[in-house]
Amino acid sequence: MNNETKKKLLDEFMAKVIAKNPGEKEFHQAVMEVAESLIPFIEENPKYKQAKILERMAEAERTIIFRIPWLDDKGEIRINRGFRIEMNSAIGPYKGGMRFHPTVNLGILKFLAFEQVLKNSLTTLPMGGGKGGSDFDPKGKSDNEVMRFCQSLMTELQRHIGPDTDVPAGDIGVGGREIGFMFGQYKRLRNEFTGVLTGKGLEWGGSLIRPEATGYGAVYFCEEMLKTRGLDFKGKIVAISGSGNVAQYATEKATHLGGKVVTLSDSEGYIHDPKGIDADKLAFIMHLKNVKRGRIKEYCEKYPQATFVLGKRPWEIKCDIALPCATQNEIDGNDAKNLINNGCFCVSEGANMPSTPDAINLYIEKKILYGPGKAANAGGVATSGLEMSQNSMRLSWSSEEVEQRLHTIMVNIHKNCVKWGTEPDGFINYVKGANIGGFVKVADAMLAQGLV
Ligand code: NDP
Repeated sequence: MNNETKKKLLDEFMAKVIAKNPGEKEFHQAVMEVAESLIPFIEENPKYKQAKILERMAEAERTIIFRIPWLDDKGEIRINRGFRIEMNSAIGPYKGGMRFHPTVNLGILKFLAFEQVLKNSLTTLPMGGGKGGSDFDPKGKSDNEVMRFCQSLMTELQRHIGPDTDVPAGDIGVGGREIGFMFGQYKRLRNEFTGVLTGKGLEWGGSLIRPEATGYGAVYFCEEMLKTRGLDFKGKIVAISGSGNVAQYATEKATHLGGKVVTLSDSEGYIHDPKGIDADKLAFIMHLKNVKRGRIKEYCEKYPQATFVLGKRPWEIKCDIALPCATQNEIDGNDAKNLINNGCFCVSEGANMPSTPDAINLYIEKKILYGPGKAANAGGVATSGLEMSQNSMRLSWSSEEVEQRLHTIMVNIHKNCVKWGTEPDGFINYVKGANIGGFVKVADAMLAQGLV
């Protein structure tokens, strides 16, 4: 297909998506990125075109929006908005995290749910795609306030989810504490102990390695990309953004494989430690972030050789490998230019859609190794899938067994991207590979199930 025809078809398709979903710019961005890879493929495979598979995939099967009233510690009434997007159940129950962050809105959750469908398909496990959350900000709230909020949210959400229907998990602002409070309320209201949420505590149905899985998986995926050029992590300078769940375990695994992680960040700025964030320093960060719920700048009070850069992102630091692990659109075209000019040759996304379209275009133009989030961060949901299997069987696998399975899944996702994304000159376009690789399985299931 020539570029002109492709552009015409893409413009027509996107005009309809934008008209139907006004103002939801992150959703438009995610659909556009996927449609760009898929439209030529669909033209070559008319069965998908006739059945309007892509058009159907861009429309959620069900969207639930609800009120979450709760009382703060002063006895004042607070009202948040809750969402669950049940995007696609062609290959399994809806599956995807809950995000608690003040920026949460319908468009952001629809982008995440749309990505989740393809990501879950890539894992090879039987999981459909969903996503949910609330504009609730857990920062600065007491444990009791977080609990009352989670209980109010679950009082409504419980009627829409279930272990064979829709299985939520964590995401930004939702970790073990929040999953615990939501699980407790679900169990109380439904009088059943089931695997309705993943990311649970080990004592009550959680899986070993689930907390580590997204960060470890992004590093494993990166390792596979490096191997295609005869490289590995040893001695490489690694820049990481974020300092939450994904960033922490990406730091651990990258360090374990011989890389030197020199940055981490939060929404206030980034820290740069040229000596590297070793295991002791990471233990300090984990306590700071997960227990004290403090800010990343406090790292520099403990380790004065490091510097804190207020209001900036870490992409101005010289590095070989970048692992964005904070949030969407955190690497723009200028950041990508900085990274590449400073010698960065590999980007593996722990976060969802952290690179803007300008940044992605530059990675592809310069032919650096670029693993998009739907492939590179699929280790988290894959291990959630393993948690669901263990819950169904009512047994627990050892950490070695779960990590081995996670590793195998990441290697297979990489192989699938290579299969669908290798271009005639040998360059592996992982964007194309992940989009087509994820699409085919869902599309074939939709064809088999008829017009539903
Ligand atoms: P956490 O809440 O544990 O950590 C998020 C981190 O990103 C924090 O350091 C936070 O800083 C920072 N951050 C959040 N929003 C912004 C923002 N708008 N600007 C700058 N920094 C920001 O979340 P996770 O680690 O779980 O998630 C990180 C990313 O990984 C997200 O994109 C998520 O969708 C993705 N992901 C997570 C999975 C999981 O298993 N947890 C699975 C797959 C993908 P601050 O504390 O200041 O807000």
